[in-house]
Amino acid sequence: MRKSMKKENLWQAILAQVQLNLSPANFATWFKNTCILEIKKDILIIGVPNNFSKEWIEKRYKNTLLKIARQFNQEIKAIEFRVISKKDKKFNFELDLSQIHPDQLRFEELYINKETSLNPRYQFENFVVGPFNELAHAAAWAVSESPGTLYNPLFIYGGVGLGKTHLLQAIGNRITKVFPEKKVRYVSSERFTGGVINAIKNQTIEQFKEKYRQYDVLIIDDIQFIAGKEKTQEEFFHLFNTLYESNKQIVISSDRPPKAISALEARLKSRFEGGMIADISSPDFESRVAILKQKAQEKNFIIDDSILEFIAANIQSNIRELEGALNRLIAYQKMGNLEILDLETARKLLKKVIQPKHKKLDFQKLTKIVAEFYNLSQKDLLSTSRKQEIVKARQIAMYLLREEVKYSFPLIGRKFGGKDHTTVIYAYQKLVKELEKNEDLAEEMNLLKEKLYSE
Ligand code: ADP
Ligand code: MG
Repeated sequence: MRKSMKKENLWQAILAQVQLNLSPANFATWFKNTCILEIKKDILIIGVPNNFSKEWIEKRYKNTLLKIARQFNQEIKAIEFRVISKKDKKFNFELDLSQIHPDQLRFEELYINKETSLNPRYQFENFVVGPFNELAHAAAWAVSESPGTLYNPLFIYGGVGLGKTHLLQAIGNRITKVFPEKKVRYVSSERFTGGVINAIKNQTIEQFKEKYRQYDVLIIDDIQFIAGKEKTQEEFFHLFNTLYESNKQIVISSDRPPKAISALEARLKSRFEGGMIADISSPDFESRVAILKQKAQEKNFIIDDSILEFIAANIQSNIRELEGALNRLIAYQKMGNLEILDLETARKLLKKVIQPKHKKLDFQKLTKIVAEFYNLSQKDLLSTSRKQEIVKARQIAMYLLREEVKYSFPLIGRKFGGKDHTTVIYAYQKLVKELEKNEDLAEEMNLLKEKLYSE
């Protein structure tokens, strides 16, 4: 049955999996107008709407897509992307959402508001508050009560899957309700960047600016992605000033505090620091159980508390993963297993997600992630450059190689251009000391470790 799966169905099935691993906003941005154009021998050719999304999807999602596709069809060996041409358009490439079981996978993207880009699923009402996020929540609530007056900008940061997007959108959704006259706009920084690039290319930068200047509330998600993008930062800086000066509310999220975003212009950092900064940390056990209950209830899923506690005890750092585990159980039940789930079955079903996922971390992967984190190329990181930001990133990479991959000091020395092992030891010890007294650095390190193990 799998082999003969029709193109459309195959794509639906693949996307259903992809969706479980992505934030709704990301999913909608990158996969909305995509389709399988053809399956050419063992190559799956995916149609995408434009070059910008082609590059993005290729870079970020190609491997994941291939892995998922092969679950359905072993014969697929590669994936290629092609911008959908006029000719292709005779295929009906819009996703047929009706194909997907409506309970199992809710394509909430359908309901995204066209003007604000907000997803109505994210509300304060279904946002669970606990010690880990109460400051961020309180600030967000205050902003939604009186936008543009109290905390401007509001800057919320925290690791992956901890509720930043949810909270940002809840602010937007509430403002549109309480102050219907206010123009609210939610945008991911990737999308904003895409907008700047397009506007430059099409010489419509004036219209672009005009559009953004009219908002009363601008919410920009995952700002760390504009690091290193000079032109985008420049436009954002001016936009920020214009909005700020006319008391328009700006809300920003990031995976780290402003000063830890390398390759972000100093003037932007200082603007961000001029408002309110609140972080979201990892949820404690009680909060994790409360969140799971909230999600089960939203999905009308009846489940024993012991199972929720089992999940909460085993998945600790990421709310999206908590939800993923729950979805797995829901999917199992929906596949026609009528009896109420017991703990034993749940354990079995979740074995894969719950096992420590410390997949092999090696030199290659570690240096790649560290380089990306600091906006450097891997080559820079391994070079002998004495530039301050490179030196710092290099020391951190060396430290992590020692701590996480258990490399010997001499081996680390060899890998970094034949340094003597005493030099490496010295650098290592210096960093250990620094970590003890520098909280920002310690936080950065945690974030990095999270990234090392989050694939
Ligand atoms: P981030 O943007 O920080 O990566 P998201 O906002 O996308 O994380 O959250 C991931 C998932 O977890 C979403 O489905 C969101 O609804 C859910 N979530 C996060 N925090 C909470 C919370 N406090 N209460 C309820 N659901 C939450
Ligand atoms: Mg997010």
